[in-house]
Amino acid sequence: MRNNEKRDNDNINLPSNFIQNIIDEDIKENVYDGRVHTRFPPEPNGYLHIGHAKSICLNFGIAQKYKGLCNLRFDDTNPTKEDVEYVESIKEDVRWLGFDWEDRLFYASDYFEKLYEYAVELIKKGKAYVCDLSPEEIREYRGTYSKPGKESPYRNRSVEENLDLFQRMRAGEFEEGSRVLRAKIDMASPNLNMRDPVIYRISYAKHHRTGDKWCIYPMYDYAHPISDALENITHSICTLEFEDHRPLYEWFLNELGFEQPPKQIEFARLNLAGTVMSKRKLRELVEEGYVDGWDDPRMPTISGLRRRGYTPESIRDFCERIGVAKSYSVVDISMLEHCIRDDLKLKAARVMSVLRPLKVVITNYPEGQVEWLDADVNQENPEMGTKKIPFSRVIYIEQEDFMENPPKKYFRLSPGKEVRLKYAYFIKCEEVIKDEETGEIIEIRCTYDPETKSGTGFTGRKVKGTLHWVSAEHAVEAEVRLYDRLLMEDDEDNNDDENTDWKEQLNPNSLEVLTGCMVEPSLTEAKPGDKFQFFRHGYFCVDTVNTTDDKLVFNRVVQLRDTWKKIKKKMKNESKK
Ligand code: ATP
Ligand code: MG
Repeated sequence: MRNNEKRDNDNINLPSNFIQNIIDEDIKENVYDGRVHTRFPPEPNGYLHIGHAKSICLNFGIAQKYKGLCNLRFDDTNPTKEDVEYVESIKEDVRWLGFDWEDRLFYASDYFEKLYEYAVELIKKGKAYVCDLSPEEIREYRGTYSKPGKESPYRNRSVEENLDLFQRMRAGEFEEGSRVLRAKIDMASPNLNMRDPVIYRISYAKHHRTGDKWCIYPMYDYAHPISDALENITHSICTLEFEDHRPLYEWFLNELGFEQPPKQIEFARLNLAGTVMSKRKLRELVEEGYVDGWDDPRMPTISGLRRRGYTPESIRDFCERIGVAKSYSVVDISMLEHCIRDDLKLKAARVMSVLRPLKVVITNYPEGQVEWLDADVNQENPEMGTKKIPFSRVIYIEQEDFMENPPKKYFRLSPGKEVRLKYAYFIKCEEVIKDEETGEIIEIRCTYDPETKSGTGFTGRKVKGTLHWVSAEHAVEAEVRLYDRLLMEDDEDNNDDENTDWKEQLNPNSLEVLTGCMVEPSLTEAKPGDKFQFFRHGYFCVDTVNTTDDKLVFNRVVQLRDTWKKIKKKMKNESKK
């Protein structure tokens, strides 16, 4: 068994991977004087998701492992999509995951002035030029993988003219889209990224930090390597889609003469089956009202997972287990679920909660009598101690725990059959009461055997079924929200691509709200964010948004066992019929 307490204190234990081999080699060769300095560079255009968690654990984890540093840098070069709300949520999420950037919080926008100066330097070196082609023409001139690009007619402008035009771009003399600054590299390069990429564009959008100060903004591919270099980053870890951009990353740093330039290293992004992960798609779900905000417990965002009841420990554990590789893969959500079960197993108190109550009257139990029975808080963790649970004449059991005409091998309650009530007595079903009009079963009458009290060592006879229950008089009413995956089929291309029909795959049953659930009275003490195991039903977390002084709302974090595969198989079989 793992030592949970210890795991809380040490943040992350990254298994060795190819990135660490590169770093080990650099340390051996003294490439960066033995320094290791990474960064996590989110664009503040949405909330962080579980894929970002992988990158956070990797970047901060590597810094921890090598006693180096990791910066948090907002890559805020695209003013139209960015917002302070996202900046704040990202900071909160990184901190919640257990990582600390100390005093190293940076913004690419902090470097706008320097980035401008470096662009001027490139122009002076004859390595950048102002181009008047329209965006469509630039695309056309760029060529394709099989067709070389065509040089822009503006490519050979003089340095003086370029300096003048670039300065006037900054001064706001030109319209959006009318001119750009481009790096002068090679229009015949087999790598499309090297065919004179755009490095500055005109945009009159207000920036969330610099306001209206700028009307030209640097492109990511230009701003990123320079930001890395200015922060003395040694290893710039990013996802695989940037592999083809690496020559450009190196070109800028080389042309601008940075010593000890950072090294870009790519790894495969995390794809999680059954959900969407691109920020664009997540934003669509939020803005079009498919979910109840970025922190909807069905969302794969960090804030959604937190509200659902995931712990930072479980997410870090997940990121360790999935590892880091160069090859594309899809991870099943059951892996993440395994991690949260593993984390809560010994931490969460176990309680009896009846989600769909059926009234049971124990006719031979004295009216008005209450017994406080002994129960473990968590039978797998004796350190959590014991508690008392009230038992009385009227209790609730789960509707599904009674069947009037049971099939063979049904060991729960049915007419004439006896079962054990957990922590209490054996009861036997004597009578079934139905609604006269609808025929619906509304009450079960039972008798109990006082000899069978739990904990007294009764061995007279055995019963196969044990039911959880709550005392009707003492139970607390609650709302319980059960979740299922967001997408029915996997979003094959989980990236930020243009396919539009992915929303047809949304699972219409991803949320089920149960009201009138009856939970153990100890749960009146529960505070938003507290987590419990409900016997048989899974792990639950007190909802932080909808819970009020007089309304208790639980989110199901995860079931006790993985049932999705079973459900999916059943659906497939049904659709074949
Ligand atoms: P998305 O595609 O979801 O919009 P992004 O790459 O545009 O993500 P950024 O804010 O630029 O989002 O990401 C910040 C960092 O997180 C980047 O270094 C990026 O490589 C990394 N990252 C983003 N998504 C994943 C993922 N699914 N797995 C691992 N790392 C990721
Ligand atoms: Mg990005």
